Amino acid sequence: MYSELYHIFYDLLSLSRLYSYGSRVRALCSVYGYVPPSNEFLDLYAKLEGLAKKIDKLSEIPPSSSIGFIEKILREFDYSVILFDNLGMPEIMEIASKFEVLIAFFVINPHGDTAAFKTYFLVRYMRNLAEKYAMDFLNFPDKIIHKLSDHVDKCPDFSLNELIEYLYNNLTLRIIRIISKVEDDKILLMADHGYDIIKRGDNFSVCHGYECLSAKGKLIFSKIAPIMLIRRAT
Ligand SMILES: [Zn+2]
Repeated sequence: MYSELYHIFYDLLSLSRLYSYGSRVRALCSVYGYVPPSNEFLDLYAKLEGLAKKIDKLSEIPPSSSIGFIEKILREFDYSVILFDNLGMPEIMEIASKFEVLIAFFVINPHGDTAAFKTYFLVRYMRNLAEKYAMDFLNFPDKIIHKLSDHVDKCPDFSLNELIEYLYNNLTLRIIRIISKVEDDKILLMADHGYDIIKRGDNFSVCHGYECLSAKGKLIFSKIAPIMLIRRAT
């Protein structure tokens, strides 16, 4: 059942390079039911919807079986490894469009948060996990997501276009820039969870884990804790 899930994920990443950043985020919004699926991104939407349904079905299966496998990869991998606190689908799809994806799979983090992920690796802090396997640790993506999700009243409410622009400029571009600077030919990327998009009235924001549930949003793509081996596209 997991292998089918990884097929969908890999296909989805291959497909995402055919779409603009904005179309990809709109396709995600169609999965939540915020905007109708449009011809502009119908194929991508269908893949994302298929992925969301599978995640929902599998969300109760503990990821323990994958952890030993991931630790083996981390021990044996000789190139740079980047550990992210929070890597969402918009960034994952952008990475897939800019780099060649050699391997891509993910662990389902049923709570979509860091606390759950740390328990799988028996570490107290994400930094401990990064140190254990000599990974570079980036936590600014989570801080940016919390800037929007924690301070709803202080932050401007975004239209969908404004949210797309904000995420692209503050999160996605920065992540791509950092990965591009890594000199190794191959790079392994790993994250504890992603984030979800929420809609309140006409406004859009983001959240992950419990926040999504308390804001009455859907917890879907937050649950993806990706592991991706990428190579510079030639
Ligand atoms: Zn967080």
